[in-house]
Amino acid sequence: MFNTSVSRSFTFEASHQLTWHTGKCAKLHGHSYRLEVTVASPLKPDGVVIDFGDIKATVTKHVLTEYDHAHLNDFLPNPTAELVAADIAERLLGAGLQVSAVTVHETAACSATVHVRDT
Ligand SMILES: [Zn+2]
Repeated sequence: MFNTSVSRSFTFEASHQLTWHTGKCAKLHGHSYRLEVTVASPLKPDGVVIDFGDIKATVTKHVLTEYDHAHLNDFLPNPTAELVAADIAERLLGAGLQVSAVTVHETAACSATVHVRDT
């Protein structure tokens, strides 16, 4: 009857460069990224979707250890916010987290969201 999800936010610092860009994003620059991970699944008997600590542990191990203080072009050929969100969603799904959405904020005003389709 309800579809319930929980979200947890994270931050990481990283640089990137979009060489195809016709504006200032073609220059090497950095962001204080904010990442929001949403997990959806049926409520467990204890009334939670997933322990927030479990989200933190998985995101830290599978995303932040590589992403924080990194140059994103070193492991993503075209690190747009959209493709960063997709890469993070793939990593978390691969780690067994039932991610329904991943949002990457490059600035306070600009973000990209990947929605994971139900299979
Ligand atoms: Zn940028």
